[in-house]
Amino acid sequence: MTKFIFITGGVVSSLGKGLSSAALGALLQARGYSVRLRKLDPYLNVDPGTMSPYQHGEVYVTNDGAETDLDLGHYERFTGVPARRSDSVTAGKIYSSVISKERRGDYLGGTVQVIPHVTDAIKEAITSDLQNTDFALIEIGGTVGDIEGLPFFEAIRQIGYELGRNKVMFVHLTLLPYIPAAGELKTKPTQHSVKELRGIGIQPDLLLCRSDRLIPEGERKKIAQFCNVPHERVIPALDVESIYEVPISYHEQGFDIEVLKHFKINNNKNPDFSAWKNIVKRARQPEGNVNIGIVGKYTGLQDAYKSLSEALVHGGLANNVSVNLKWIDADIFETDNAIQILESVHGILVPGGFGERGAEGKISAVTFARTKRIPYFGICLGMQLAVIETARNMAGIKQASSSEFGPCQHPVIGLLTEWQASGKIEQRSSKDNLGGTMRLGSYDAVLDPDSKASKIYKEKTISERHRHRYEVNINYRNQLIEAGLKFSGFSPDGELPEIIERSDHPWFIGVQFHPELKSKPFDPHPLFSSFIEAAVDQSRLV
Ligand code: GLN
Repeated sequence: MTKFIFITGGVVSSLGKGLSSAALGALLQARGYSVRLRKLDPYLNVDPGTMSPYQHGEVYVTNDGAETDLDLGHYERFTGVPARRSDSVTAGKIYSSVISKERRGDYLGGTVQVIPHVTDAIKEAITSDLQNTDFALIEIGGTVGDIEGLPFFEAIRQIGYELGRNKVMFVHLTLLPYIPAAGELKTKPTQHSVKELRGIGIQPDLLLCRSDRLIPEGERKKIAQFCNVPHERVIPALDVESIYEVPISYHEQGFDIEVLKHFKINNNKNPDFSAWKNIVKRARQPEGNVNIGIVGKYTGLQDAYKSLSEALVHGGLANNVSVNLKWIDADIFETDNAIQILESVHGILVPGGFGERGAEGKISAVTFARTKRIPYFGICLGMQLAVIETARNMAGIKQASSSEFGPCQHPVIGLLTEWQASGKIEQRSSKDNLGGTMRLGSYDAVLDPDSKASKIYKEKTISERHRHRYEVNINYRNQLIEAGLKFSGFSPDGELPEIIERSDHPWFIGVQFHPELKSKPFDPHPLFSSFIEAAVDQSRLV
């Protein structure tokens, strides 16, 4: 039967609960166990799909088309286990299912309450869809003490009570701040946070203590004694240089061993950490470096492009180089002649995005990459803008634009109203709700064997994740082809362009999907490896 590990956080947010959960998943996997990682988000949005990236960072899309928290990206990158819709639970989802049950009359006249109806729905979500899973790692978003988190804490407390300590473990992540005036690491916030947790009936079994320096023995003892946790289960979680060092660093502090001991598992097998050691070694000893310019809208908040920046790092790992990311706000292209900023980059990437703001600036960046023969990678909106750029500047369709930016004479990018999904026709209209109505999740694409894309993938058919509403308008296909654009991948029915490239350029590829979502440090995505390879070649030219 599946064992549950609940990961909660205290003191402050942004301590890296997601990474800690992902790292523990990787450690258990290295010991031969199957793992599943889940996130419970106490906010009322049904999913983060409609939230601004400024609020919430990137929206991570699963194969089965769920729009989820970016922590699911960490889980997948660290364990390779594809995340599913059922791995993302929000208060919004829970409440809307409880309320629709109430409207149907399913509660048979009962008063519907947070306890037990909401907590029961949370418990069901936690324990469902876990076949063949040794360990389910469940992270609770927010910090202990948040009012909206209470039903979630109550639900996990009940699971702990019902299944017993042999099947459930509570891990709590806290911070030990360093106070320069006292020259000390302070344990009091951790004590308070554990007190808060105990107040709602949860005694943590293990504490992960984030700290920017070594934790003196005295402090560790104090935490153990005051928080009622065995000394060896007060685990220092020290800052490390790269996130991919976290699993090994946790292992060295005894995290995985203590988890197994808690469950009374005698695991004599030697864990296999070779993949992680290899990644750390490569990351620490690059043989060169390249600069990649990312021209986007949310460049002030790097969490908005989390998977993207990780995929670029993976592309660097594949080529033994370190990748310097230059975040360039598309808006600056519209104010002054900022094209010079691009002079120092060896590759230009325009990522996914929504809305008109910044579009013209991004199109200028495409023109720069195309005419200066700098490797160009366009992802989703970045592909669409590359098509608009070719239409305007190479095919002479001066009014070419996307219908996303308002009515236009030549919508070379148009609203996607109908497409095939698993043999069924899906339909959308411009009047649909914004939430959950895009073309979402994994779809196949068939590659032209005579294309750069197929050489890079070394496959005829690929499957990639999508999240978009608009599509290249194939009515303009012939004009675009004459203007030098190659359509190198289509949906299996031949209706939807998936990849475009230019044969007259060293590396110019646009993809309608999000390859960054599937890249992993131990399995870099081929498009990112190839793009960085092209950037390395470019860096030798300049
Ligand atoms: N805004 C564009 C669309 O909806 C692109 C989406 C994206 O880049 N993810 O089609």
